[in-house]
Amino acid sequence: MVAIRPQSAKFFVFNNLLPALKNPAFRRLCRRAPRGRRVSSRAWQSQAWTSTEPLEVLRRVFGYPAFRDAQASIISTVVSGGDALVLMPTGGGKSLCYQIPALLRPGCAVVVSPLIALMADQVAALTEAGVNAAALNSTLDARAASQVERAFVAGELDLLYVAPERLLTERFLELLDRTRVALFAIDEAHCVSQWGHDFRPEYIQLSVLHERFPAVPRIALTATADELTRREIIERLKLDDARVFISSFDRPNIRYLVTPKDSAREQLLRFLDREHRGHSGIVYCLSRRKVEETAAWLEERGIKALPYHAGLDAQTRADNQRRFADEEGTVVVATIAFGMGIDKPDVRFVAHLDLPKSIEAYYQETGRAGRDGQSADAWMTYGLADVVLQRRMIDESEADESFKRIQRGKLEALVGLAETAECRRVRLLAYFGEASRPCGNCDNCLWPPQVTDAGVAAQKALSAVARTGQRFGAGHLIDVLRGKKTTRVVQLGHDRLKTFGVGADWDDRQWRLLFRHLVAAGHLHADAESFGALKFTASSRAVLDGDTPVLLREAAVKAAPTARTRRKSAQALAPAPVDGNDPLLGALRAWRLATAREHGVPAFVILHDSTLATIAATRPADRAALAAISGIGGAKLDRYGEILLQLVRTND
Ligand code: ADP
Ligand code: ZN
Repeated sequence: MVAIRPQSAKFFVFNNLLPALKNPAFRRLCRRAPRGRRVSSRAWQSQAWTSTEPLEVLRRVFGYPAFRDAQASIISTVVSGGDALVLMPTGGGKSLCYQIPALLRPGCAVVVSPLIALMADQVAALTEAGVNAAALNSTLDARAASQVERAFVAGELDLLYVAPERLLTERFLELLDRTRVALFAIDEAHCVSQWGHDFRPEYIQLSVLHERFPAVPRIALTATADELTRREIIERLKLDDARVFISSFDRPNIRYLVTPKDSAREQLLRFLDREHRGHSGIVYCLSRRKVEETAAWLEERGIKALPYHAGLDAQTRADNQRRFADEEGTVVVATIAFGMGIDKPDVRFVAHLDLPKSIEAYYQETGRAGRDGQSADAWMTYGLADVVLQRRMIDESEADESFKRIQRGKLEALVGLAETAECRRVRLLAYFGEASRPCGNCDNCLWPPQVTDAGVAAQKALSAVARTGQRFGAGHLIDVLRGKKTTRVVQLGHDRLKTFGVGADWDDRQWRLLFRHLVAAGHLHADAESFGALKFTASSRAVLDGDTPVLLREAAVKAAPTARTRRKSAQALAPAPVDGNDPLLGALRAWRLATAREHGVPAFVILHDSTLATIAATRPADRAALAAISGIGGAKLDRYGEILLQLVRTND
């Protein structure tokens, strides 16, 4: 049996000073005194370490000046041994909520994470910051894995990331019995929800942690949780005693844009040309084939675009993901298989060429934009065909009826978001139970859509549905309304109907918009079994009788928004404009790229864009000035301080 070292570095905080001196992680932690004063580690320890505060760790290890929102209360809850459920949007700073307690509590923190790519980046970033972190997952060979296990049991690690299926093996649970565990962090906790889009059966079994290790505090974290999921997490993970921390789900730096679909790819290209040339971004499509085609199509038009979907071999997927992380201005065209493990901070846009399944999925996918807090776009095109397709996928799935009903409800909520003429953010946040006021940073706020009363047109449309026997989709109905004598129309005798030609004053697109709206508003139902035939619902009658008004947004006829009309506060959130030709910034970027290659990590693990931009803008002259820059912690200062200062000096 491997001997347990009862007193790892952090145990010292609560006990005596001596054992800590032996621990290299601790020594690294102590290298820098508060406020940048350099003192010998012994002096620093005896004066201050016994009262080490989370804030000092934040400053010294991670190089950030202050906690955000609830971070401080979450950390103090966990440090003092309590359970916590943390609901925080992507980019909110969830990782620090368990990383800092991991450094302050005795023992090693065990972090359950479903995605290997994410683990690798987290471990790389922590190692860069001088923290002893490792991961156990299927990418390690047996020898490497047993090395990590040995270090874990020997108390040499501060954080261990582990995949859920690995954690649940009896072998690993026995290792846990023999090891001092500082806390369990359960990342992406919504994976426990059977109704959710990321359901992982192993997550349900994680309640074993509570049963087997009741004294170890647990912190569950997620960026996606509606009321239902929230309750499920608490129940399934047995977090009844956990303090629940709900941060605002607002991502004020993300601008939400939804455009009716006409020629989706062309619309995307125009959007990229106008706003995002040379930026990193993600384009989501529903099918593998469409991913491939779109990537190739963008590539032909001079945009560096890589495909990503589950049908590609593992090597290609890994390569494309790496290139996305490492190479500036790369666009990934992907199915939803891509993304959960992505924590690239400078994704400037997320585009949806197809409709996601729910608001949660939309929110999670768009949430990958702008994690660095700088302005970013969530852009989507959608059309009636999307809604019909998604409906069909739900209806034809193997799931039972109650599951399907929930999925349909979720889809409808999303369509409602896409259709609304009001602030999109208000809708989005309301879905997560949060009240808010019009945001000024979505298309509807920036370019308020004209709303017109389309009651009469709706009556015509519904009467066309009725007179053709509720058996046809929008395409044929529009032909009838517009008075087109297509072969089908003539064969079916629909040119003799009373509604034939009553809608000649509108073009195809306007009618499509109306049909989509009627479906979204629940006045028509697209029946999957009869290939999207539009049928009446309980509310159709009232529309037909003119009792329910139909207010239609005219977004379709409006010109696309331009960059110039971005709202002021969004600009305020943007970084200070940096001169693209600044030789210092260029030199910093080149150095970062070379260093990242050398260390085999993505560039942002070395230093974030915003940190480089601040260095370029403030030109720090000495270590103290450099240390004051957000994102430069003790280990980075030691490792890169000299070279950074030198770069500043030589690029004057
Ligand atoms: P999440 O897991 O919630 O999506 P992360 O933990 O990856 O978010 O944090 C997002 C980014 O914000 C990271 O680059 C992280 O270093 C940074 N960050 C977190 N907390 C702070 C803070 N208090 N001050 C400055 N930056 C922070
Ligand atoms: Zn708005």
